Amino acid sequence: MLLSQGQYYILRPDYLFDSPVISVIIIIMTFIFGACIGSFLNVCIIRIPLGESLVKKSSHCMTCGEPIKWYDLIPILSWVILGGKCRGCKEKISGRYALVESLTGIIAVTALLRFGISAGFFINMIYFSLLVVIGFTDWDTQEMMIVELLAVGILAIPAFLFIPNSATLIERLIGIAVISVPFLIIALITKGIGMGDVILMACAGAFLGYKAVIASAFIGIITAAIAGIIIKFTTKISKMAFGPWLCVGLYFGAMFGTEMFNWYLMLLKPN
Ligand SMILES: [Zn+2]
Repeated sequence: MLLSQGQYYILRPDYLFDSPVISVIIIIMTFIFGACIGSFLNVCIIRIPLGESLVKKSSHCMTCGEPIKWYDLIPILSWVILGGKCRGCKEKISGRYALVESLTGIIAVTALLRFGISAGFFINMIYFSLLVVIGFTDWDTQEMMIVELLAVGILAIPAFLFIPNSATLIERLIGIAVISVPFLIIALITKGIGMGDVILMACAGAFLGYKAVIASAFIGIITAAIAGIIIKFTTKISKMAFGPWLCVGLYFGAMFGTEMFNWYLMLLKPN
């Protein structure tokens, strides 16, 4: 296993599988790292829309208000061990907490496989974390927090500076407008798309560049359409937010968007 390959890598993804034992250990540790971030994202999803502090108040049961002991705050495991119930009042604790923790753990492992241990891994983990918070907040409240959206845009700066072979400055500038402008027009005409979605795609366009943000929008729209049909026929939910599905698309956009875009262009080329 080679370390320090390339200036921004600690461990390149292609060297990850040189030693199976070490690879498994790194993958398990990365999952735990992601699950712990997910635990914090749960706090963000609940408290930011309410304007509550993220650090001041300790975690507490949503029913009885009992502070949760440190040993009951282990991501995923605590929820499983307690059978999804509060230790104090035995009231049900939403499975959403364990879901967000598991999801963020899986995202971290996929980011590791894609970016290795590198600047790209950490910058994309911040980006993916923001997507998780934006997506679940939009699902819950049908709203997006402007600070979270702008944070995605600001992340474009470290992405441009520290991720090798990522989008160029011109590609990022085009990326800001290429999806957000059509979305803005649709938003103004039909109100089918919210202003949050428009700003999200502008900021994500700066982060990803135009190729990956076009691929993201494509995946997001298809995912939303499929999810919309499933939700319509299986639940009583009538109004579905578009943002969560855009976030799904934006995740895949960061993972493979540029490659997808180039592959599609290749298909269009006459032989
Ligand atoms: Zn309780």
